[in-house]
Amino acid sequence: MIRDFVYSRAKTIKEALDLLEKHKDDYKIICGGQSLLILMRQGLVAPENLIDIKGVEELSYINFKPKEGLKIGATTTHREVEKSSITKKHYPVLVDMEENLASVQTRNWGTIGGNLAHGDPAGDPGPVFIALNAIVKMANMEKERILPLEEFFVDFFETALEEGELLLEVQLPAIPPKTAIMYEKFNIIKNDQGIVSVAASLTVDDGGSSCKDARIVLGAAAATPIRAKKAEQILIGKKLDEGLLEKIGKKASEEADPVADIHATEEYRRHLVKALTKKMVRKAWEQAITLT
Ligand SMILES: Cc1cc2nc3c(=O)[nH]c(=O)nc-3n(C[C@H](O)[C@H](O)[C@H](O)COP(=O)(O)OP(=O)(O)OC[C@H]3O[C@@H](n4cnc5c(N)ncnc54)[C@H](O)[C@@H]3O)c2cc1C
Repeated sequence: MIRDFVYSRAKTIKEALDLLEKHKDDYKIICGGQSLLILMRQGLVAPENLIDIKGVEELSYINFKPKEGLKIGATTTHREVEKSSITKKHYPVLVDMEENLASVQTRNWGTIGGNLAHGDPAGDPGPVFIALNAIVKMANMEKERILPLEEFFVDFFETALEEGELLLEVQLPAIPPKTAIMYEKFNIIKNDQGIVSVAASLTVDDGGSSCKDARIVLGAAAATPIRAKKAEQILIGKKLDEGLLEKIGKKASEEADPVADIHATEEYRRHLVKALTKKMVRKAWEQAITLT
């Protein structure tokens, strides 16, 4: 049963920040409610004040500039990211990711800001955004601040958001030339959360003969989405071959720090990390070398 609460609705960022300040002793922000309401129904969260930001239109946008990249406002829904002509053209990996995230109903309500702020290590946008080198913008009454998304995730369901802070936007820099990004999650039920997921972003040199940059990000394989930095280093400066791919997958599975739960044992998760890393790195490499 959900405990009684006082409901307030913000229509602007300023109204939202005022409400956060006013109720700073005991509040929860609600946007699409797709994650929060589950916790409230289970009695795991019982705020005195519920501050609804779903109607903050200022935070609902997808903007793109070729040199700066993409900016997605926090109240933008998953469905808007999925259906946007901008993401389709410039960041197709986001469309693939969204098409496999939950149901259309959940994507219609759930937002990018809510997903990131929830801090679920099995969330889909986190690994993809980190592979894309994302930055998040937050604000409280006094100031705005930015943080690499990698540093935003602190622990299981814990983020760097402080009391009184609102997540405003996620920024994705322009994708460098000859860069391919792939993402996949492994699940038993289609569009369910991943038991493990892997995103890989590879940049190859002009001749397509060696890897200039690599970002490999593991989801649901630790308390937060994590970079497999040692696995990335194996590839940088080299040309991908089967021997290297095997080493990269093995190293990523060693860097993972998965839990055992009702979905999978720790050992099985490590096995999945290895298999998915190899698959994503291979796919990203094969695409990157064809790019002009
Ligand atoms: C059936 C089902 C299946 C799902 N499957 C998937 C899946 O496959 N992959 C996946 O990634 N997710 C999945 N989800 C999770 C869900 O889609 C996301 O977490 C959703 O995007 C949350 O957004 P929301 O706007 O509904 O957030 P809410 O539920 O409103 O809020 C979530 C949390 O974020 C905080 N919050 C929200 N907005 C802000 C903000 N701007 N600033 C600061 N804090 C904020 C809230 O206080 C709360 O703690 C699923 C959910 C359901 C119900």
